[in-house]
Amino acid sequence: QFNETVYSDKLSTVSQMAASIAHEIRNPITTVRGFIQFLEKDTMDDKLKQYAPLILQELDRTNMIITNYLRLSKPNDFKMKEINLNKILVDSIDLLKPYGTYQNVSLFYNGSGTHYVLGDEDHLKQSIINVIKNGIEAVSDGSGYVKVSKRSTEDKRKVIIEIEDNGKGMTRDELSKLGLPYFTTKSKGTGLGSMITNRLIFEMDGSIEYVSTPNKGTIVRITLASSVLGIH
Ligand code: ADP
Ligand code: MG
Repeated sequence: QFNETVYSDKLSTVSQMAASIAHEIRNPITTVRGFIQFLEKDTMDDKLKQYAPLILQELDRTNMIITNYLRLSKPNDFKMKEINLNKILVDSIDLLKPYGTYQNVSLFYNGSGTHYVLGDEDHLKQSIINVIKNGIEAVSDGSGYVKVSKRSTEDKRKVIIEIEDNGKGMTRDELSKLGLPYFTTKSKGTGLGSMITNRLIFEMDGSIEYVSTPNKGTIVRITLASSVLGIH
């Protein structure tokens, strides 16, 4: 079992490049998306009908990547406030339910109690989504799961969110590369998700820890400051 707390600031060149190309790429994507949607609606062609949703999905994925890039290039765009964790976690899980079903992975939420943290709502949600998505993608057979849970630390000053999967896990080497730009072991991966997640959590004064065992699974542990109002 390996254990590493990751944050590496190798981002400045990536984010500068991001800002300059992201807008340029978005415009043609929007145009193409519009045309595909238009064709899908009117066509009698079975193949086009069948594949149009996939094309749209991939275009949306491209857009997501660009959105993520843009997020990196604006690290100061944080609105720290009190966040109800239940809502963020349930929203994130709901958003990924279709993807989980599609990949034959069960998503569980064990979120007993109410926890409030200090953070940026959009960025926290993005981080959680990135981590759950990696969990789903790490699990291959039909008995795979991703479990999301949360709890307070004993002194109630912090809240720990755990995202656990029983997927393929990571070797020590993979774990050490996790979070570096473009590190991916997936054929369709971007190798940007973890980098962004780590960055966003760090910007919220939180920490993120990956505990992974090859062929057994991974636990991702995100720790954030509890908001004062949330201490009951
Ligand atoms: P991507 O998902 O596009 O590959 P990420 O930055 O999200 O990029 O992840 C980088 C790599 O880290 C993945 O390709 C995978 O090898 C590894 N990884 C991340 N999360 C997990 C996990 N829960 N289980 C196993 N491997 C993981
Ligand atoms: Mg990922």
